[in-house]
Amino acid sequence: MKDTISIGHGGGGRLARDLIKSVFLKHLSNPILAPLGDSAVFELNGSKLALTTDSYVVRPIFSPGTDIGKLAVCGTINDLSVVGAKPLYLSCALIIEEGFSLKDLEVVALSIKETAKKAGVEVITGDTKVIERSPGESQSNIYINTAGLGIVENGIDLGIGKITVCDKIILSGTMGDHGIAVLSKRDGFDFEATIESDCAPLNGIIQKIIKAGRIKFMRDPTRGGLAGVLNEIAEDGNLEIKIDEDSIPVRDDVKGICNMLGLDPLYIANEGKVVIIAAKDDACNILKALQNDPLGQNAAIIGEVTSKEKGKGVYLKTPYGGTRILDMPLDDLLPRIC
Ligand code: MG
Repeated sequence: MKDTISIGHGGGGRLARDLIKSVFLKHLSNPILAPLGDSAVFELNGSKLALTTDSYVVRPIFSPGTDIGKLAVCGTINDLSVVGAKPLYLSCALIIEEGFSLKDLEVVALSIKETAKKAGVEVITGDTKVIERSPGESQSNIYINTAGLGIVENGIDLGIGKITVCDKIILSGTMGDHGIAVLSKRDGFDFEATIESDCAPLNGIIQKIIKAGRIKFMRDPTRGGLAGVLNEIAEDGNLEIKIDEDSIPVRDDVKGICNMLGLDPLYIANEGKVVIIAAKDDACNILKALQNDPLGQNAAIIGEVTSKEKGKGVYLKTPYGGTRILDMPLDDLLPRIC
């Protein structure tokens, strides 16, 4: 490893995982942290709780369908939801550079309020810090950290260790919308099509599908995209996963921009999607429950767990009949996307 942090260490790929293991797990590990779940899950006075935190550094802060405030609420709600928790409370800490527009700050605050209300959670504590503007930047930036607390109801017990051979991989919708929406508003890009971010709180749809069948594990494909998440699952669970490229939903306009820029939508961040590993016999019921919700209309079964053997990885069946390895991303294709 190099002796300084690179931008890639903040991505959802190999560099970030190696950094977490070699620095943070080395010094801070405990049985609750060690599984490196989307949220920590623990028991307290007979209740099973989930706690998570995430920082949002997206640039620009406003994109079609989202903004840094909405993202900061949805991202944390979704990390609670994918461990099976019902999100209850959020904290919200802002780091604002001097010179930041008060009007924009109010827009961000309103967005936090509306998104939290829609998801049925409350922001109950917060913090504000102001720092000098970054040298060389033309605009003052804002960064937000949210933490979230949720409750895991009786009988819900998810984990990578529960995944078995023949379990199905289900995707709740199209891949790459968020990353391409943010990219479309960056300096130097001027796409004709307006691509809206998929940024949305997933707690409602996830609570519905949990009742529809036996779910073994879930993760939201944010940084690192679908390829990142499937590789994490394969690596941590010692699994072989095979997916079918033809069955993975990608919007035509997202596909078009990806082709133009040489990007692969399977590696691009999403902020309103979930990858579900479910028992084979329940996959169709879960798929139907997803498709009955506006956030899951494009849901699809995209593959299955084919072997439980160490070091196997993720394989992609291409539309031409071949099969190739779908690698873990090294770093972030598009930095500062969330
Ligand atoms: Mg997550």
